[in-house]
Formats: sequence, structure tokens, C-alpha cells
Amino acid sequence: MRHTIDIDSYAEGVLAGHRPTLARAITLVESRRPDHAELAQELLVKLLPHSGGAHRVGITGVPGVGKSTFIDALGTHLTEHGRRVAVLAVDPSSARSGGSILGDKTRMERLSVDPNAFVRPSPTAGTLGGVARATRETMILMEAAGFDAVLVETVGVGQSETAVAGMVDCFLLLTLARTGDQLQGIKRGVLELVDVVAVNKADGPHADEARKAAGDLSRALRMLQPAGGVWRPKVLTCSGLTGSGLGEVWDAVNAHRAALTESGELAAKRRRQRVEWMWAHVRDRLMLRMQQDSEVSKLVPELESLVDAGELTPTLAAERLLTAFTGQSQQETRV
Ligand code: GDP
Repeated sequence: MRHTIDIDSYAEGVLAGHRPTLARAITLVESRRPDHAELAQELLVKLLPHSGGAHRVGITGVPGVGKSTFIDALGTHLTEHGRRVAVLAVDPSSARSGGSILGDKTRMERLSVDPNAFVRPSPTAGTLGGVARATRETMILMEAAGFDAVLVETVGVGQSETAVAGMVDCFLLLTLARTGDQLQGIKRGVLELVDVVAVNKADGPHADEARKAAGDLSRALRMLQPAGGVWRPKVLTCSGLTGSGLGEVWDAVNAHRAALTESGELAAKRRRQRVEWMWAHVRDRLMLRMQQDSEVSKLVPELESLVDAGELTPTLAAERLLTAFTGQSQQETRV
């Protein structure tokens, strides 16, 4: 039996911070049913004027670096200071394999029972594009519900870091001290996205090593990210386990926000992100529609084998697929 969904009461519930309604609204946003998608957009349009109020922070790092311990401790630190904290995740691996790398909310023991926090595991809605869309829209729901710090966790699978960096104000990388090349194991593309780096597990016998690693990383980043912007990435040390250095990491995240706000860059960045989100959605949907198109499907096996055998150029094959999809020859300018 189909339940009718009353969007006005959903909107009221979310704005009142009513947790069960918030959870239902997120489920609606994550749903892939076309009728749900339509209702979700109706809800989001109502809530959009109430969104945008949170400090949006992306957090990345390889599995085992201590992300969940760090977020549990940082989030608790924030709620103790009167903040309302939402933790979201972008983990496209959960969509592919059915099992997620980031796991679920039980990893954050304190935050998951904190009345001023809301921990939501990654949506499992298909492609990275689908997962990122659902997370972005969930962020709007969270802000409308009054959460003023949104932490978006991701693990470095595929392009997920780029997707998360494209939806937050500040991008934080957690890393570990390593002997030898400090950049080893950190994807170069990620270093170009980071605003703050925290060398984690700087406790016990590893504290000195972490401080040295932070110095090395700081120098490496200076070379990678040219001066001239309003912010230069900061590298700090911390321990999610003992809590030491967490305040300083959050201070750096706040300093980043202050610098961007003052220069007008924060508003500009969010505008750019909204437009980019629109195009990302277009790309994602267009690709899906094309793959599902019956004319395209008929051609795919033959074209793939011709390209595979080196008998047709990939460009020509792609043009044929596009022609089959749009039903017209492609006369556009070459790119
Ligand atoms: P995640 O996979 O990045 O979410 O990492 P976890 O938070 O699950 O932590 C992985 C392991 O590292 C666990 O055994 C933690 O107890 C340990 N760990 C996490 N943070 C710290 C830290 O700050 N110091 C130390 N020494 N160990 C930590």
C-alpha cells in the first residue's frame, strides 16, 4: 500500500528539529523512486531558504587513520560548546560492494547517542554522483533542522574526495606520520584540495614523529599550493584518542572560514558549488539515460568490440552512440 506523504508536515517537522521526521525526510531524499524524487525536490525547495547556516567541513583519510575516533571526539567537543553537529558520509564503495568501508554509526559511540548530534551513514544510492547528490541534499535538511556544523566524512575511493571537497567550505585531511616520504600514500590530487591537514595519532611515543611529519608536510604543501589565495593550508598534529590538539584543529578550520568570509570567497565558493552541482547532476542523469536507452544498447556490443580490436577509433564509436541517443548527427564544435 502506498502511503501519502504530506510535504508540509515534513517541512514543519524538519524545521522543528523533530528527529523521526528528519530521518524520514533523509530516506525520501535518498530514495531512487521517481515519485519520491519529485516529493523530495518539493520538500527541498521549501527548506532551501532555511539552509546554508552551517559550517560545512569535509574530512578525509585512509581507512585506519582514525577518522571515526577523531569525528567522535571533535563532534563531542563541539556539542559541549553548544553546537549542533551533523555527521554525514560519502562512501561510494558501499554502493558497489554492498559493504561499506566507513561502516555505520556505531563507530561513533559518544556522538551517536548525543542529543545534539545526528550521525547518518553514507547513502547507498548507486553511483558516486547519486551518493553525492543525496548527501548534499541531506545537508540542506540538516541545516534547516538547525545543525550548525556539518561534518562530511569520506574515504579516498575513486573521486569521492573531489565530490566532498565540492560540497564543503573547508576540506580537512587526516594523515599519519610516516618515516621517509611524507607524501607517500597521500594522493596528490587530495593535497591540492586540502585546507587543513592534521597528522593524527600524535600521542605516546609517536608525538615527536608526528610533529616532524607535520613540518615536512607543511613545506611540501607550500610548494604544491602557490601563494596568492586568501588562505594557505595549515598543518597541525592531534590525537583523536586523547583529544589533544583537537581544539587547535578546529581553530584552524574556523580561521579558514573567517579568512574566506572576510574576502567574500566563501559566498563565491558556495555559489560555484551550487552551479557545479547542477552540472554534476546533468552529467550523472544524462549518462544513466544514455546507458538505459534501447537504441544505444543495441549498438554497444558491436562498437565495444570494434574499439577493443582497434578497428574503430574510440571517438568515432562515441559519436555513433551519441547520435543513436539523440537521434541526430552531432554538429557541435569539437572539444
Ligand atoms: P578510521 O578507519 O579512519 O575511521 O579509523 P578508526 O577511528 O576506526 O581508528 C582505527 C584504529 O586506530 C583504532 O584501533 C583506533 O583505536 C586507533 N586510533 C584512532 N585514533 C587514534 C589516535 O589518535 N591515537 C592512537 N594511538 N590510536 C588511534
